[in-house]
Amino acid sequence: MRAVVFHEPGKPLSTESVEDPTPRPGQIVIAVKRCGICGTDLHATEEHDGLLQPGTIMGHEYAGEIVAVGAGCAAEWKSGRKVTGIPMHSCGDCRPCRVGKPMLCTSASILGLQGAGGFAEYMALDTHNSLLLPDSIGWVEGALIEPLAVGLHAVKMASDIRGKRVLIMGAGPVGLAVSFWCRFMGAYHITVTEPESFRRDMATKFSADAVFPAGQPADVMPLIEAEAGAAPEVVFECVGIPGMIAQGIEMVAHGGEVLVVGVCTREDHFVPAAALLKELTTRFVLAYDNADFDMIAGLLAMDKLDVSHMCTGTVGFADFSEAFESLRKPNAHCKIMLEP
Ligand SMILES: [Zn+2]
Ligand SMILES: [Zn+2]
Repeated sequence: MRAVVFHEPGKPLSTESVEDPTPRPGQIVIAVKRCGICGTDLHATEEHDGLLQPGTIMGHEYAGEIVAVGAGCAAEWKSGRKVTGIPMHSCGDCRPCRVGKPMLCTSASILGLQGAGGFAEYMALDTHNSLLLPDSIGWVEGALIEPLAVGLHAVKMASDIRGKRVLIMGAGPVGLAVSFWCRFMGAYHITVTEPESFRRDMATKFSADAVFPAGQPADVMPLIEAEAGAAPEVVFECVGIPGMIAQGIEMVAHGGEVLVVGVCTREDHFVPAAALLKELTTRFVLAYDNADFDMIAGLLAMDKLDVSHMCTGTVGFADFSEAFESLRKPNAHCKIMLEP
């Protein structure tokens, strides 16, 4: 089969001919129908921090159709069914796995970064991390469930979003998904701050009430308070660079919450007393769990989510590498998908 393989940072991904996967016990093989390119993919191919293993087929936002079923799978896993899932290969037996949180399994590997992913014609998946989709859900919708789940999980991690003023720092795909779910879950007012103007325009499409260029709290807060009426009770940090948590603590209302969703891999600093004097709650949010996927699939099946604006480009293998590289520069895309 054809597949997109990572070899080393700074080198474009290459489309190669590799061996077809075969399902192990408890696994299925899908024919991938769509697989989205994620910001994590771009970062992982830039700075080599060991998250992405050389020689790996990338892609973790997939949807596809079952073409082979391994031994020991329950009867509902049969050829022709639509599937997406949490992109993990995990033990299936530890406590996190049993409660539907394979991201916390200590023996897990991430598909598309450490195990074979979805930028390929075929892909092997654990059934315990996969989700059967109803036929009414399209391939693009199916492949959007993973990036949507990141935002949903973050919003569910807030104690209660209903009726609240919200500030989302960063309008990358994660910040946009957070904005989408804040509106869905009943936030009162959503402000997004973002340096790039076309991303600010995108935030408006993702339900933001007000969008401002990112800046120092002293400059941005008067704008937010004028629009929203007061400081935000909930702040989502969706940037992932040093200094953002401190800014969130400075901008959030007394008694509020700061949710850290951006993945910052460098040392960061904040003054604990600044958070203490406001009696804040801070939470760190990791990815998603099975329940997030189930909820989104259910809502899509009921036509409760309009995601038609989210996939902004589709490419085949021939154009894939070029499309992937083009996303490294500022761009107006929300999500580009491979159609193998
Ligand atoms: Zn992703
Ligand atoms: Zn496990």
